[in-house]
Amino acid sequence: MKILIIEDEENLLSLTKKELEKEGYQVDFATNLKQAADKIISTSYDCILLDIMLPDGDGLEVLKILKNLEREDSVIILSAKDSIDDKVSGLDLGADDYLAKPYHIAELSARIKTITRRKNTLNKSVSLGNMCILHSEKKVLVNNIELVLKKKEFEILEFFSNRLNRLIDKDKLAEFVWGENFDSMGNYDFIYSQMKNLRKKLKEANASLELKSIYGLGYKLVEKDDEGFI
Ligand code: CA
Repeated sequence: MKILIIEDEENLLSLTKKELEKEGYQVDFATNLKQAADKIISTSYDCILLDIMLPDGDGLEVLKILKNLEREDSVIILSAKDSIDDKVSGLDLGADDYLAKPYHIAELSARIKTITRRKNTLNKSVSLGNMCILHSEKKVLVNNIELVLKKKEFEILEFFSNRLNRLIDKDKLAEFVWGENFDSMGNYDFIYSQMKNLRKKLKEANASLELKSIYGLGYKLVEKDDEGFI
């Protein structure tokens, strides 16, 4: 379990770090926004402890960076100002929890446990209709039988499963499939063929979900209508 502490008060930082290490966590730290951004970009964490008032800016920026990177690291805001505004904007920006300073280390530790436990159960597997996605094993079962997928097909299905019933346009999908290389690839043929194969596999396995093609707009993962589904 990896934790990142973003905190500029040295005493508090070293105390928290020491206590969490005692509990068996692997602890990284950053003392300003810039360092924090560097760490976050290179590593993903099970939990990030985030101080709001940092010497070079607003800690809430960290939440924006995580959001832009489409990352799922859990975040607990630790704020000296017990301000309701901070709490609301932090939670709005995707933080998981908020703890006012000064905090008791036992309380912090309990919050970390709750959040990471919740996340681990979420991450383990997800059932959708007769389909079960095993995230850590990178496998999909339909009616308890493994659906054999290529790596990219799995990633695409996983991507849609986190966005059930949402229309994903082909640019967004291309960006996901190609990442930053999309501009240099420039055509959608690869995506069309991936989607075609994936749709065929789901259909042949009699999955209760389908990747619906919405002509000219994109795709949607939806529960099939009962009609035609046994
Ligand atoms: Ca501070």
